[in-house]
Amino acid sequence: MKIMIDAGHGGKDPGAVGSGLQEKNLTLKLALSIGRLLQNHGVDVRYTRTDDTFVSLSDRARAANAAKVDYFLSIHINAGGGTGLESFIYTGQSGKTEEIRSAIHQCVAAAFKEAGLPDRGRKQANLAVLRETSMPSALLEYGFIDAPKDAGLLGTDAFIERISAATVQGIANVFGLSIPAAADQVTEWARQARDWAVSSGITDGMRPKDAVTREEVWTMLYRALKR
Ligand SMILES: [Zn+2]
Repeated sequence: MKIMIDAGHGGKDPGAVGSGLQEKNLTLKLALSIGRLLQNHGVDVRYTRTDDTFVSLSDRARAANAAKVDYFLSIHINAGGGTGLESFIYTGQSGKTEEIRSAIHQCVAAAFKEAGLPDRGRKQANLAVLRETSMPSALLEYGFIDAPKDAGLLGTDAFIERISAATVQGIANVFGLSIPAAADQVTEWARQARDWAVSSGITDGMRPKDAVTREEVWTMLYRALKR
């Protein structure tokens, strides 16, 4: 299983800018976070960029085609006066491409809803990275950089982690990815609670025997009680 994560923009192209944030930095942070979680599921993760460099849209698609990845996911942040989540597949696509996009969209939309941000829906568009990639692909716009509420959340590591985990949950659901090996050493009495916490997006379920820090407790309580 090979997936390419495409952090939108980069280098001389900052993407959308607003609220003191630049799209290119948020997309990179999200892409690397999603990639790390996918690796825990045994996925061979590729990136179109892993630092602040400019890569053309065609070069991104070419890289995916050359690597023969099974799925291509492009990460963007919206701008222009809206709020919330929207996702795109290439115009006229259906079948597997729509099935995968829907699974991801559903999980991420739930995380947005928890945070009080709306679902703007599943859309189609003639976007270069979707048109030029030869495998199923989708592009997600994770909120609006110029909307105060969206930007306030996108500026926090907790929300970045939450929507990364939701993205990976959607991918794991539709591709039937197994529970990470490192999370499978959980003691039997804790298994049901762990599985619930993972499926609710409260924890990634990893490191079951590790001690917990105070900030991890706060974050898990926050995720559980704010659901
Ligand atoms: Zn963008």
